[in-house]
Amino acid sequence: MPYDFDLFVIGGGSAGVRCGRIAAGHGARVAVAEERFWGGTCVNVGCVPKKIMVNAAEYGAWMEDAAAFGWPHHRHQHHDWAKLAAARDAEVTRLSGIYGKLLAGAGVTSFDARATFLDPHTLDVGGQRVTAERIVIATGGTPMRLDIPGAELGLVSDDLFTLKALPRRAVVIGGGYIAVEFATILQGLGAEVDLMYRAPLPLRGFDEDIRGAAAEALAAQGIRLNPDVRPTRITALPDGLMVAMSNNFMREADAVFFCTGRAPNTAGLGLEKAGIAPLAGGAIPVNDDHQTVQPHIYALGDVIDRVNLTPMATAVGHALADTLFGSNPRRASYDNVATAVFMSPPIATVGLTETEAAARGPVDVYVTRFTPMRHTISKREGRKTLMKLVVCQATQKVLGAHMLGEDAAEIMQGIGIAIGMGATKQDFDRTIGIHPTAAEEFVTLRTRTRVAGVAAAAQ
Ligand SMILES: Cc1cc2nc3c(=O)[nH]c(=O)nc-3n(C[C@H](O)[C@H](O)[C@H](O)COP(=O)(O)OP(=O)(O)OC[C@H]3O[C@@H](n4cnc5c(N)ncnc54)[C@H](O)[C@@H]3O)c2cc1C
Repeated sequence: MPYDFDLFVIGGGSAGVRCGRIAAGHGARVAVAEERFWGGTCVNVGCVPKKIMVNAAEYGAWMEDAAAFGWPHHRHQHHDWAKLAAARDAEVTRLSGIYGKLLAGAGVTSFDARATFLDPHTLDVGGQRVTAERIVIATGGTPMRLDIPGAELGLVSDDLFTLKALPRRAVVIGGGYIAVEFATILQGLGAEVDLMYRAPLPLRGFDEDIRGAAAEALAAQGIRLNPDVRPTRITALPDGLMVAMSNNFMREADAVFFCTGRAPNTAGLGLEKAGIAPLAGGAIPVNDDHQTVQPHIYALGDVIDRVNLTPMATAVGHALADTLFGSNPRRASYDNVATAVFMSPPIATVGLTETEAAARGPVDVYVTRFTPMRHTISKREGRKTLMKLVVCQATQKVLGAHMLGEDAAEIMQGIGIAIGMGATKQDFDRTIGIHPTAAEEFVTLRTRTRVAGVAAAAQ
């Protein structure tokens, strides 16, 4: 029986739009369904609006820095939230529209509707039965609240982008990158901010030196850190909220943000009708080719919970379309994916942490900390840059690069290319630096700071 489409993509976010567009470009008959907003999380409630707000938050401190360079001193006492929100929303609307146009331009049939499975080849798309030879599930994820009394009084990350005003006092719960970025934004725009997390340091999974430097920088910015605690209850007060913590302390706030993880969007998708069982947390299990247990149904992006980043989602979507319809079978690599935390100053990292690398064998570790030139003049506290290379002792390959400091994300993209190509420490050393920059420190790290791993234990 002929199918309505060669490929049906559920979800018009980073992964789904790229996959559908490229597949259509290869000549496939493609449809994409999106129930909420074209462009998905990244464009509408993720990377894009967040980065705009990070940029906004930075200006306040820069205005203060400028005084040391001879500019008149303007304190950022009256940030205009409504103006920022309007500019942000206009940009988000523009980008979301581009996503829709990209699909139409490629000849993709778009459905502004929710799609759910009726059987392994049939979907209900806004009340319409649609069949497809192959189906891609790219439904992304949803922010989660903790299961504590009063959780419904709290907000999640999506809500930052619809707030009508800056909360005067905010509690941000969570120690991951979204929590840290939200704390940075809110404090930078003028709120009093508490960051509350379960571990001694924020940013679990990042290199330990970076985690320590991040905590120092957040505190120097003026964010109150509450390590080793969990919130236990939120209660409404006449003029705000009260957050009770596991250490018996209380915090009053006007807004409480749960930045406590995201759940894959699989509930109500009818997966059982397609013969697919999600994992305990809701993620869809797939093989290395992103096939589910049904070989003609694929899943990618945040719904599989591997590397939850936009460029990863688009790379995998593109590779899948090339594989299925472009006579170019290939896989996007999950190795050495560079990533950033847009706090102040930002963090960027690629490759292995010292702990991960040391577990595999002896490593040479190079660390430097310095005040960047701008802040030797501005004298702003907490602006020290940290740079670190983790090098395999046997092969001298650079296994990991980590940075906390201004422009870290911009610098790390290039370092990611070098590490992906297998660059050695000697390749870094013979590279001539760009002077005067912070980036040149990555090619002038002459003195080994320490040895870690098996050999370290033997020494
Ligand atoms: C606050 C925040 C900040 C972030 N910052 C960054 C960053 O700086 N850099 C970075 O790389 N990543 C960042 N991310 C992560 C990034 O946004 C995601 O990894 C990326 O969007 C995943 O793409 P996706 O296509 O898998 O899912 P999504 O972009 O979430 O797209 C899934 C789409 O499917 C739709 N959908 C769901 N179910 C159905 C259904 N049944 N029928 C029809 N449509 C459906 C949803 O409405 C959604 O639009 C951030 C995320 C958040 C929340």
